[in-house]
Amino acid sequence: MARSSYPRYPDACGWTALLPPRVPRPTVSGTHRVKYAVVGGGYTGLAAARRLAELEPGASIMVLEASTAGEGSAARNSGFASPRDVPSGATQAELQRGAAQNRLTEEGFGWLTEIMERYGFGCELELTGRIKGAATEAGAALVRSQREGALRLGVAHEFLDAGQMEARIGSRYYGAGLFTGEGYLLQPAALIQGLADCLPGSVALHENSPVTALRRRGQWQLETPEARITADAVVLATNAAVKNFGYLRDRLVTIYTYAALTEAMRPEDAAHLGFMAHWGLLPAHRLGTTVRRVGTDRLMVRSMYSYERGIAPERARETLLSCFHRRYPALAHVALEYVWGGTTALTMNGSPFWGQIDAGLFTSAGCNGAGIVKGTILGKRLAELMLVVADPQEVSAAFGTANWIAPEPFRSIGFHAIAAVERRRAGAEA
Ligand SMILES: Cc1cc2nc3c(=O)[nH]c(=O)nc-3n(C[C@H](O)[C@H](O)[C@H](O)COP(=O)(O)OP(=O)(O)OC[C@H]3O[C@@H](n4cnc5c(N)ncnc54)[C@H](O)[C@@H]3O)c2cc1C
Repeated sequence: MARSSYPRYPDACGWTALLPPRVPRPTVSGTHRVKYAVVGGGYTGLAAARRLAELEPGASIMVLEASTAGEGSAARNSGFASPRDVPSGATQAELQRGAAQNRLTEEGFGWLTEIMERYGFGCELELTGRIKGAATEAGAALVRSQREGALRLGVAHEFLDAGQMEARIGSRYYGAGLFTGEGYLLQPAALIQGLADCLPGSVALHENSPVTALRRRGQWQLETPEARITADAVVLATNAAVKNFGYLRDRLVTIYTYAALTEAMRPEDAAHLGFMAHWGLLPAHRLGTTVRRVGTDRLMVRSMYSYERGIAPERARETLLSCFHRRYPALAHVALEYVWGGTTALTMNGSPFWGQIDAGLFTSAGCNGAGIVKGTILGKRLAELMLVVADPQEVSAAFGTANWIAPEPFRSIGFHAIAAVERRRAGAEA
C-alpha cells in the first residue's frame, strides 16, 4: 500500500482572502464505492472529473481534495492565462509543435470561459496582453530576440524602451520590454472556487479530505482520515504530490515559489503604477520576478524558487518586499498585506507527464508553472483517454513527455548548480 503525506498550507492565500468567505464541501467519512476517484481538486482534477461526468453521465465520481478550493496552488498562482503562446522558435518543427500546443490550449481556455458563462460566475478575467520586462543587458538581448521571433511569425507586438515601460507600468526599473496583445489575467482563487462550485451533479467533491493511502486489490482502495473508498479507476491529479504516492519520482521536482499582494494604496500612490489600467509583466529571464497590477490599487509580486522544501516565511516576506520596493522606490512606505507560498512541478525538459501509470490509474503532472490552461486541457484529455476517446499521440506531439531525471543526490546537486548560475544570469530581474 502506498501511504501518502499531503500538502498543508500554513500561510493564507491573498487571492482567497480578497474573496467573500466560502463554505467548503463536507469532509468525506464512512465507506464508499464509486466508479471514478479523482485525488486533487486543482485545475487538472476538476477538469478530469467534469469531463468524466460529461462523457459518462450515470457514473459515480468522487473528488478528494486535501485542503479547500482556494488554498491549493490552483488559487495561489499569479493568474496569467493564455489561449495561445508564441512558438519557441521559427523552424518547421517548432512551428508545428507550437500550433499543436495552441490547438490544445485554445480548447482548454475556451472550455473554461464556456463554463464561466454557463454557470454565471466571474474571475476578473481581462484581456490585458503581456509585457516581457528586461532589467539587465542579457534580459534586453532576450527581449530583442523574442521581438525578432514575433516579427518573423507575424505576431502583433510593440517594443518598449525604458521611457515607454515607465509610462505603462510606472517603474523605471526596466530598460526594455516587449508587449504582445495575447494573454489574460484573472483572479485564480475566484476561478478555482467557481469551478468547484458548479461541478455536475454526479461529481461529489469532498474538501479537507486528504488521501493518505492508495492500494490496488482488484479495485483501487483509497483511505482518508475518516473514510475508505473503493474505485474502479483513479486519477492522481495532485501535480508534484504524485511523488508522495511513489510515482514519477524520476520525472518531477517540486518547486516552491512565493507571491505577495500589497495593501490597498491611496489614489496618489496608485498613480505610480502607470497609465495602463491592467497589466502583467513576466521577466525576460525565467528565474526573474513577475509583477502585475491588481484592480486599481494593488500590486502582486511573485519571486523565488526553492527546491523540494519551503523558505522561512520571514525570508519570503523580506525578499518580496525588496523586489517590490526596488521596482517602486517612491512606494517604499507601502507594505505587503498578504504573503504566501505555493508549489509547482517542474520536469527536466519542460514537458508534462500525462497518461496511465498502472492498471486503472492515470495522472497528469508537471505543468511547469503554467497549469491554469494546461492543467485544464490535460485533465480533460485524461478523462477522454480513460474512456478511450482521446488519441494519446495528440498530447505527446504537442507537449512531449517528461524525461528521466537523475536520482538524489545528483538531482539536488544539479538543481542547485543550475539555479546558482541562472540566478547570477537573472541579476536584477530576480
Ligand atoms: C506562486 C505561483 C505562481 C504561479 N503562477 C501561475 C500563473 O500565473 N499561471 C499559471 O497557469 N500557472 C501558474 N502557477 C502554476 C499553477 O498554479 C499550477 O501549475 C496549477 O495549479 C497546477 O494545477 P493542478 O491541478 O495540476 O495541481 P494543483 O493546483 O497543485 O492541485 C493539486 C491538488 O491536489 C491536492 N492534493 C495533493 N496531495 C493530495 C492528497 N494526498 N489527497 C488529496 N488531495 C491532494 C492539493 O492540495 C492541490 O489542491 C503558479 C504556481 C505558483 C505556486
